[in-house]
Amino acid sequence: MQGELNGAARALAGGGTVVALTGAGISIDSGIPAFRGSQGLWDRYDPMDYATIEAFTSHPEKVWPMLLELEDLMAAARPNPAHSALAELEQMGRMHLVITQNIDGLHQAAGSRRVVELHGSGRRMICLDCGQRYGKSIVSMGDMPPRCACGGLIKPDVIFFGEALPQRALLTAMEAAARCRVMLVVGTSAVVAPASSLPLVAKQNRATIIEVNPEPTGLTEGVTDYFLQEGATQIMPRLVQALRSLP
Ligand SMILES: [Zn+2]
Repeated sequence: MQGELNGAARALAGGGTVVALTGAGISIDSGIPAFRGSQGLWDRYDPMDYATIEAFTSHPEKVWPMLLELEDLMAAARPNPAHSALAELEQMGRMHLVITQNIDGLHQAAGSRRVVELHGSGRRMICLDCGQRYGKSIVSMGDMPPRCACGGLIKPDVIFFGEALPQRALLTAMEAAARCRVMLVVGTSAVVAPASSLPLVAKQNRATIIEVNPEPTGLTEGVTDYFLQEGATQIMPRLVQALRSLP
């Protein structure tokens, strides 16, 4: 492990653009359950009944209680040492963009300033009809489901199944993947398109791929150059330390 850690640290130190791609695994230790796991919320709410755009638009009053529980989870969540390590890398000039599949806003809460949210943000609301954005306090006021002044349904500004990804975020992510010299993949098996293509695009453009995951993924064998097999909370501070300790 120390050899892989030092190799990864040297890659980060080597100059050029560094980007991170993060997923649910980085936020589990902050109390946000993995969407595709079997913990808590998703035991009780089948994503097919609660997380598709069709389910939301046809039965918003049924979906909102689940969304409010998710809001509570996110309100209670705090960044963990892995989020902080990525923010520290940015401050050191060794992290140029964090691309995340998470909607919890914990990268920004940890201090990362350059963040692209591929699946939107659970900390904003949007009107499905006119596109007006709201803070999340709108949901605690008045009747369920919350409605916009225009009469449209208000929904968290996150991507439900069946919705297109935000195009500008996706374009920024693809461009960063194509030009980066190092991609740090943290807490994601990167199996869900289109995020799954980002490490491949980076690799095709000769980037070094560093992977932080507790178990091997589809990337580990053929794509990853340095595999740090441990939880993000444990290994990310050690990676920063290894980088700081380089001669
Ligand atoms: Zn509206």
